[in-house]
Amino acid sequence: VLIDSHCHLNFLDAPDDALTAAREAGVHGFLCIGVDAPGRDQVLSLAAAHSDVWASVGWHPESVKAPASGAHFDWIDEGLRRPSVVAVGETGLDYYQIEDGDAARRRYQQDAFDAQLSLARERRLPVVVHTRGAEADTRAMLRSHADVQGVLHCFTESWALAEAALDLGWYVSMSGIVTFRNASNVREVAERIPLDRLLVETDAPWLAPVPKRGKTNEPAYVVHTARFLAELRGISYEELAAITTENFHRLFARTQPA
Ligand SMILES: [Zn+2]
Repeated sequence: VLIDSHCHLNFLDAPDDALTAAREAGVHGFLCIGVDAPGRDQVLSLAAAHSDVWASVGWHPESVKAPASGAHFDWIDEGLRRPSVVAVGETGLDYYQIEDGDAARRRYQQDAFDAQLSLARERRLPVVVHTRGAEADTRAMLRSHADVQGVLHCFTESWALAEAALDLGWYVSMSGIVTFRNASNVREVAERIPLDRLLVETDAPWLAPVPKRGKTNEPAYVVHTARFLAELRGISYEELAAITTENFHRLFARTQPA
């Protein structure tokens, strides 16, 4: 049994077909990630329709384009009360496309990230974090919320950030990027993550792994990334699948069967 710990089913043309294909490929759990207020209800209805789909509710840094505070986060807090919601996110920091002089955009992202980490603490939920080009600020934010845990998803930052997060009890998730020829830095991180902190994901519909690179990604393709990681770590696919599934249920405790 393998789990896709991060997918955006609501951005696929035919999510039900993609789920069927994934189950046939041996993928039997899906965390469907919300990125904004309109997407919240889409991920909630997908989770309501499928017993093997869970949802997260949050506000992606690239969607945070204006100052937000207090009541701007009520839609998240309300979503977190639904039983199918197992995490806050995705949230985080993405400075990749922000121009250096645009300090305001960075601050909006920081404030939204900070608010969502606080909600996670109040609701006792883990957090799904996106970080790109923002290592120092991500590290500082995790440290200032040391009682909150979660996963750094689709990880592409340095080992130093991974290590800082691991020290705080966080998990690190590998996407199809780890299979890309030019991603040796990501492979170096993937080799070093303790196996009991490793997760695997598609981030579908983006970033399809080799040999599907360039196609629309879908949860069934998480098998390719898992096979690649198993080989990289010198363990069997079955072992990798079992370990990452166990990790998933430990981190996202609400997914555990009652
Ligand atoms: Zn995502």
